Amino acid sequence: MGGTYTASDESGDARVFTQALAQRCAERGAQFLYGHDIERLVKAGGAIESIAVRARTIRGKGENLVYLKADEVVAACGSYTAPLLRTVGVDLPIYPGKGYSATFKLLKPELAPFVSTIDDEVKCAMSRLNGHLRVAGTIEIGGYDLSLDTPLARARCKMLADRIEQVLPGVCDTRLEAEGGTPNFWTGLRPATPTNIPYIGKTKVGRLWVNAGHGTLGWTHGAGSGKAIAELISGESPAMNFGFHGFNRPMLNG
Ligand SMILES: Cc1cc2nc3c(=O)[nH]c(=O)nc-3n(C[C@H](O)[C@H](O)[C@H](O)COP(=O)(O)OP(=O)(O)OC[C@H]3O[C@@H](n4cnc5c(N)ncnc54)[C@H](O)[C@@H]3O)c2cc1C
Repeated sequence: MGGTYTASDESGDARVFTQALAQRCAERGAQFLYGHDIERLVKAGGAIESIAVRARTIRGKGENLVYLKADEVVAACGSYTAPLLRTVGVDLPIYPGKGYSATFKLLKPELAPFVSTIDDEVKCAMSRLNGHLRVAGTIEIGGYDLSLDTPLARARCKMLADRIEQVLPGVCDTRLEAEGGTPNFWTGLRPATPTNIPYIGKTKVGRLWVNAGHGTLGWTHGAGSGKAIAELISGESPAMNFGFHGFNRPMLNG
């Protein structure tokens, strides 16, 4: 048995992080339009004129749309960026890769890893969160389905539990709910690209930028990508040397 220790590796709770970040942005003047869907990008004369959004509580098509205008627009909708951009003729290969996450109560915390750990054999990444172990693994290429209650999804959740039991026997309560356990399962879509490298930069449509396709590492790369796209939009040279889309990287069709 052996491993590589990466001293710079860190782990945390992405939900807690993003909620705290949103609060800080709001304190500094950012406005968030929660509970709304982008229905359409309105294009005129080769550029984005407005974004049509609708409150999720409002039903019916065609009415109740609000049109937002902006100097510049960044499409950053994860896996949903590709179908949205396709409506204005920008075609980027970003495809949803469904991933599973499981959080198990620690029974023997002293035996659980203290640093984030990836077991290559069982293909699981583990992070310790207070009295729990969070485990992520597997990728499913099957569209935009997020369900947890299909036979396949249930089998995958059980597989995550079994794999943790295999590498850390007795360390967590890996029993499923039906067996009296209290695991917390979740699925999400990793916006995958053929190279696992995101598309950050400008598109061929005026005023329209993209920051999407971060695959398995969107949280890790989120802050750096956000800083880079802000620098690009401001006409600055990003501090980070990267193949920015529409600049020094071929634009494909986008
Ligand atoms: C199980 C699992 C474990 C992972 N572990 C890690 C990890 O350890 N480290 C790491 O760095 N990354 C990890 N990732 C990857 C990371 O979650 C993604 O790369 C990241 O979430 C991508 O961020 P994003 O903002 O581009 O897209 P998303 O997080 O998918 O956010 C896109 C947002 O756009 C919204 N949206 C989409 N379409 C519309 C529309 N029409 N109108 C309004 N809103 C819309 C969505 O609702 C969503 O809120 C993991 C992913 C999974 C599934």
